[in-house]
Amino acid sequence: MSDPYAAQRDEMVDRQIAARGVSDARVLAAMRKVARHEFVPDHLKPDAYGDGPLPIGEGQTISQPYIVALMTEALLLQGGEHVLEIGTGSGYAAAVLAEIAADVVTIERIAPLAAQARTVLQRLGYANVKVEVGDGTLGWPAAAPYDAIVVTAGGPFVPPTLRNQLKPGGRLVMPVGRDSWAQSLVRVTRGSDGEDRQEELSLVSFVPLIGAEGWKDASRREAGGSR
Ligand code: SAH
Repeated sequence: MSDPYAAQRDEMVDRQIAARGVSDARVLAAMRKVARHEFVPDHLKPDAYGDGPLPIGEGQTISQPYIVALMTEALLLQGGEHVLEIGTGSGYAAAVLAEIAADVVTIERIAPLAAQARTVLQRLGYANVKVEVGDGTLGWPAAAPYDAIVVTAGGPFVPPTLRNQLKPGGRLVMPVGRDSWAQSLVRVTRGSDGEDRQEELSLVSFVPLIGAEGWKDASRREAGGSR
């Protein structure tokens, strides 16, 4: 069956993603392939290829397509990696990652969102994605270490526990900042000597990362654990 949204999706990649400077061929191919309309509520399907985040319930959002592409590119994936995502949400970014990586473990703190994402990912055939429920600021030690870790919610600092689940040479990409409307997109690269290199890539705006090494709660923006 042909996909009625294929033309809109190609246009999304051309106008919103490639035109803004994302050039990694693997990322562009994944963004052309993953059916974003499958990851949004039915009444929002006509808007699925628009240039912004959309509500997915529970006060959460599916990220803007450009931001998913930007963060995926920032992970510097070559194909074949073992990847951890924090903040499953709709499952869309996990599907994009799964198009490139060997396998993806994704963690969501809100159980109904995790269940919904798991259903969609299964239906679309993403057998290489495992959705888990829990506090992702603590990572997922059972499957550590990872080649790449991406956090799709904004926290006050990069959780040390997550850093420590990176392989030598591994990359972690995450929005960090004290404001609810703007964070810096940060990339941490774990050196083979155990020393981390940290870069700031751009400004982004994400829902809060809530957990032991994130914010204590969404409204008060009080940091949880210590740095
Ligand atoms: N990657 C998602 C976007 C998710 S929005 C997508 O493609 O749709 C961020 C998600 O992070 C929300 O669903 C929120 O509930 C979740 N989240 C926030 N703090 C978390 C934590 N400590 N562990 C796991 N998930 C968390």
